[in-house]
This record gives sequence, structure tokens and C-alpha cells, in this order.
Amino acid sequence: MGKVYLVGAGPGDPELLTVKAARVLSEADVVLYDRLICEEVLSLTKPGCKLIYVGKESGRHTLPQEEINRLLLLYAKAHNTVVRLKGGDPTVFGRGGEELLFLARHGIECEVVPGVSSVYSVPASAGIPLTLRGISSCFAVVTGHPASGGGGEVDMKKVAGADTVVVLMGVKRRADIARELIAAGRSADEPVAFVERGTMKDQRVVVAKLGDVAEGRVEVSPPAVMVVGEVVRIHEKLRGVLENLRLSREGIYHA
Ligand code: SAH
Repeated sequence: MGKVYLVGAGPGDPELLTVKAARVLSEADVVLYDRLICEEVLSLTKPGCKLIYVGKESGRHTLPQEEINRLLLLYAKAHNTVVRLKGGDPTVFGRGGEELLFLARHGIECEVVPGVSSVYSVPASAGIPLTLRGISSCFAVVTGHPASGGGGEVDMKKVAGADTVVVLMGVKRRADIARELIAAGRSADEPVAFVERGTMKDQRVVVAKLGDVAEGRVEVSPPAVMVVGEVVRIHEKLRGVLENLRLSREGIYHA
């Protein structure tokens, strides 16, 4: 009977993979991986390692969770080292908890290798700190996609009181989410950032007002992390300063 590692691959930039994740991947006999896992990370596996894609396309599950569980069990019985590789951290909206329980119930040894979650790393890479003295002393994280958040309705009232609100899987429902946050007491003038493909080479940041998002005027493509709160202004300030630095370095502009 083998061992299953539930491994986080980080937010996208392969350099944000942990040293432990890289070691476990290099020892793996089988890797079952999700969407958004880059080629460079998969290439850390040894020759002959079986690579099995079990991710889902937007809205459509390639494999139902029961089938992924069944495969994990099957491979754990036949191999020494099985890696279940997920984006970010495996226990944040990744159904990692369910897989852990399932494997434990079947008597399979399992270890979690935590990963760098997109929750904070994607905003950070866009110059948005989730906490900032005097501006944000707490943040709340919520799924924008009810079915992926552990079931049930997503109640924005639960999180609307936090200084900073982070929404994962929120691109599709962004207008509804913004409306729900405003209804729960957030100001329509508050800044919102969508950080698309965070930490990747083609990262893009869209900044708008919550009211504009509520009215469906803001174009965003997944994957993106939505951040609502005053901390978004830090991104704007930094962008201005960095642009001035670049221009002055190129001799175009002298502040
Ligand atoms: N376990 C993951 C989250 C899985 S839910 C983690 O800890 O990061 C998938 C959601 O994460 C996406 O819909 C998006 O909101 C966010 N996400 C993951 N990687 C991202 C990236 N590189 N850029 C922007 N958003 C990302």
C-alpha cells in the first residue's frame, strides 16, 4: 500500500512551488493534477511517472469527484508514491479536505504538503497587501461559486464586514457579488481589483469601483482573484511611482 501526498503547486509561477513539493514530485510514481498546473512543474517528475489530468474546464467537471477518489485509491494500492497536485494550497477551495477524509476512511496514509495560496499571493504580486496598518486589520475570503465552496448559498453578508474582502472563483458572478456586497453595506465607490493570471508572465490587473462591477461594466477573464477594499489603492499608488521611476530611468521624465 502506497502513500498519497496532497500537494499544493502554488499560484502559477513555478518558482513559487515549495522545496518539499518539488522533492515529492520528483519521487512520485503517479501524479493526478488539476487545471492551471504548468508544464514546468510537471516536468519535475521522474521518467516513467504517470501524469493524469483530472481537472475541470470552466463549469464542467472532467472527472466527477467520486471518480478522482476512486483513482486515488486504485493508484495508492498499486504504487508507492502518489501525488494529488492542486493549484495554490490543496486545502483552500480545492476539495482537499474531502480527499483526505476519503483516503483516511480507506486506510490510506496521506500527507498534506501545503502550497502558496492564490488568496494572498496573487494580490501581493499585484502590489496589494491584504492587511495594512491603519487601513486593513482583517480580511475575509469567500468563494463566488456556491457549488465549489462546500455547498449552499454564498452569503456575502457573512464577509462584507471585513476590512478587505477576497473572492475566489468570482469572475462569472462578479456583478451579482458586487451587488450583494453593496446591499450588505459596502460603498459603491470602494475600489475593487481583479488580478488575472496572478504571478504568471501575462498577469493583468483591472481596477474599478464596486458600483461599476455591479452594473456589469467591468471586463474580466478567469482565473482572477477579486479584492475589495481600500488596500487596492496601494496598487494604484505603486503603479504611479513605478511608472515614474521607469520613465526617469529611461530619461523621458524627471519628477
Ligand atoms: N486552492 C487554490 C484555490 C482554488 S479555487 C489556492 O489556494 O489558490 C480556484 C480559484 O483560485 C480561481 O477561480 C481564482 O479565483 C483563484 N486563482 C488560482 N490561481 C490564480 C492565479 N494564478 N491568478 C488569479 N486567480 C487565481
